[in-house]
Amino acid sequence: MKTKYKIFYMFILLCFVTFAITGCTKEYPFPVINTSTDVKNVILIVGDGMGYNHIENAKTYYDMGTLAFEKDYVIGVDTSSKSLFTTDSAAAATALATGYNVKNGKIGMDGNKTLTNIMEIAKDNNKKTGIITTDNLYGATPAAFSSHAKDRDYTNNIIVDQYQSNVDLMIGEKSSKYQEYYQNFTSNGYSIYEDYNSLVSSNTNNKILANISNLRSIYNPNITGQVNLVDIVSFALDYLDNENGFVLMIECGHIDKCSHSKDIVGALSEVHTLIDVANKCYDFAQNRDDTAIIITADHETGGLKKANDKNDIKNSLYSKSSHTSSDVPLYVYNCSFTNVGEKVKNTFIFYIMKHIVTNI
Ligand SMILES: [Zn+2]
Repeated sequence: MKTKYKIFYMFILLCFVTFAITGCTKEYPFPVINTSTDVKNVILIVGDGMGYNHIENAKTYYDMGTLAFEKDYVIGVDTSSKSLFTTDSAAAATALATGYNVKNGKIGMDGNKTLTNIMEIAKDNNKKTGIITTDNLYGATPAAFSSHAKDRDYTNNIIVDQYQSNVDLMIGEKSSKYQEYYQNFTSNGYSIYEDYNSLVSSNTNNKILANISNLRSIYNPNITGQVNLVDIVSFALDYLDNENGFVLMIECGHIDKCSHSKDIVGALSEVHTLIDVANKCYDFAQNRDDTAIIITADHETGGLKKANDKNDIKNSLYSKSSHTSSDVPLYVYNCSFTNVGEKVKNTFIFYIMKHIVTNI
């Protein structure tokens, strides 16, 4: 090969490597956050894998009109991570929980650096904290709000961090991985529940770890015996409500999983549950002026197209079985913004929560 071609190819390789290392993230200016100092509670609802068309298709499939939260639409969210490829739930959840853009696979860490998450900031500000997921509690999204791990697969590290996290309430799908740590949770002040009825009828003042079966959507026609997530959220709101305020993160985790397998009815049933949960939180917030609600997604999954009508709801609306880099929507109730630009980076959502939690 001629020297000048060698130099050219070396240059191209160097560009590629630089791009891979530094990532391709563009930063967008943050809007100015305007919130009444009366706002002391934050509820963050995350639809894992939920893009605009997941919501649109759920409205079509279930004959829903305009949703309560749609009037609070703010802007599209850039979900890209520090990795070259489309984000995963770990990097996206870390962006939401810590305000840092990190590489895929990281849980509350940037390289070897441990990042402070919003639940830790909330505890420092004397607020109660809660995490609810329809997936396992060691999954990437709840993990980023309650632990720090160099890799999302370091499940034991994540659970050890969680029993030391001081998060007041953690509710997720039943997993045997937690059982060997029950003693650690108990000695750190947690009451443990494995049964839905004993959880929702509980009036304990202890911290709560609940591993509950059957957290998939009650609207999925292919599975039976599911518990109603709205009742769990209702219990959590009662439990967390206090004069200093609280931060509650609720993840609907199976929109993503159903979308990976191009199961549109399954995915839309999970979106229906998210809408029910959002409506429950709006009922809670609209009776008072101290609660903000943020609804968003970590990323879009499936490249889902919009259906023309109900008959058009088919698995073939999915264009792929992986995550995409499409923007996801951001809806915020009881918090307003000025200087809203083209879109925001997902790290902005952390700063909305931090603004409320630290009251600045
Ligand atoms: Zn996924």
